[in-house]
Amino acid sequence: MDLILTNGKVETMNEKHQRAQAVAINEGKFVKVGLDDEVLKLKTKNTKIIDLKGKMLVPGFIDSHMHFLDFGYSLTKVELNGSKSIDEVVKKTKSFFKDKKIREGEWLKGRGWNQDLFKENRFLNRYDLDLVSTEIPIYLTRVCGHIAVVNSKALSIIGITKNSSQIEGGRFDLDKSGEPTGVFREKALDLIYRKVPAPRLEDIKNMLIDATEAYAAQGITSVQTDDLSTIPGVDYEDVIKAYKELFAEGKMKTRVYEQCLFSNIGQYREFLAKGYKTGYGDENFKIGPLKILSDGALGGRTAFMTEPYADDPTTSGIACYTQEEMDEWVLTAQNGNMTTAIHCIGDAAMYRALESIEKAQKIEPRKDMRHSIVHCQITDKNLIKKFSTLGVIAHIQPVFLDYDLRIVEDRIGKDRAQYTYNFKRMLDEGVHVAGGSDYPYCEFYQTFYNLHEAVNRQDLKGYPEGGWLPDQKLTIDEAMSIFTKGGAYASYEEDVKGTIEEGKLADCFVMSDDIFEINSSEIKNMNVEMTFMGGKLVYKK
Ligand SMILES: [Zn+2]
Repeated sequence: MDLILTNGKVETMNEKHQRAQAVAINEGKFVKVGLDDEVLKLKTKNTKIIDLKGKMLVPGFIDSHMHFLDFGYSLTKVELNGSKSIDEVVKKTKSFFKDKKIREGEWLKGRGWNQDLFKENRFLNRYDLDLVSTEIPIYLTRVCGHIAVVNSKALSIIGITKNSSQIEGGRFDLDKSGEPTGVFREKALDLIYRKVPAPRLEDIKNMLIDATEAYAAQGITSVQTDDLSTIPGVDYEDVIKAYKELFAEGKMKTRVYEQCLFSNIGQYREFLAKGYKTGYGDENFKIGPLKILSDGALGGRTAFMTEPYADDPTTSGIACYTQEEMDEWVLTAQNGNMTTAIHCIGDAAMYRALESIEKAQKIEPRKDMRHSIVHCQITDKNLIKKFSTLGVIAHIQPVFLDYDLRIVEDRIGKDRAQYTYNFKRMLDEGVHVAGGSDYPYCEFYQTFYNLHEAVNRQDLKGYPEGGWLPDQKLTIDEAMSIFTKGGAYASYEEDVKGTIEEGKLADCFVMSDDIFEINSSEIKNMNVEMTFMGGKLVYKK
């Protein structure tokens, strides 16, 4: 026996919600879950024993949608989240790069700004960034990742002028005199990315190591992550190679289920032709669904809506694909034995995606196809029923509430808002729900912050009192379930992980308090004390 964890409160999260005191782990799996006496009987001379001192042990968390490589990559960029003015953005960017050696041809990169927080109440533009540098190209992405701003140097490298024509599925903004302002949206972002020099394999591995270290410290032992088209100029085969090498070197502390995003359908067909499909790989690294981007974000009013925005009636957002194009993506996946994970924030985006899934199942019926929608924010009663009827998984990010609960009623009005972020309703309607963070395209990924938002429906400061749409609060058990069993179901691994049961992977972590007993306002202050992946201690506070 390799390891015994004893003297704990083991919350198995199994169907009967059995509690235990100890677990025995051998070759990366739980072999016994029970009372101290019965588990300790399995002790052999090489068994390591850890006393949990009465603390709670729970299954390792699964972040069912995020961007792992982008997280690591983001650490090479200046973080602008929460900046309250354009002046602050300029100052932070200057000081982040002050002492850094910038290689010839390299760009300064930043992320996380949000014009809704700026006291100037406007977007950043090229002239703001020219205050940082007119010699080195700069791009700074908005918090949503769907909009970026560049300086004049970058604009000249990209080659966009007042005479350039717009590209389909995106746009670059022009000022009153027709000059580009430096703001790029949706598919127009490719114009920037294509000019930024790509990192090498070693750089990619270092980024993933930074991300896996941070996640282990949060008790998160599995991620479902969208990485293949993350960094401009990086081939997806190099990303897959980086993961495989890191697992072989024993450096990964997080299992990976890859949500595969492609820039065009031809590239995706080639991927399928190589033999990749959902489930390809092993319990460390697996190919998951095809990721499809179908609309933008609520903050920038690019989420695709059935009705115009209440606070800007000139727009209903942007759809990345027509119905026919979406049908083709989903059917191609279905034919290639791949499920889909379709990014949808607006209700119109979801209706479109669900229609494509329904059609694919009719044209090419397959058993147990666990298609999914990522985000699922602006719903209505009907939509939620449709998820349930079609068996489509909802990947939700409770942490989005932290910011969105302040803007959603402005964006779409109070009436429509009451059926949005309806996590409880989803569960009550029998929808399979998986919890995640979407980090770094949100404010944070921390486990207890995410649980706090799900259970209290308040931001981290406790606003609003009593919670936003309080009838949609999840119980602790429901919140824990979506981050464990819910995630495992989404990757077809409900028999492999998501609960602490004999025969399952020994992925688990120790909490500082009993989350089922503590006052719910205290959840956000809890800590992770130890994390185990496959029975290996990968984090200790
Ligand atoms: Zn995402």
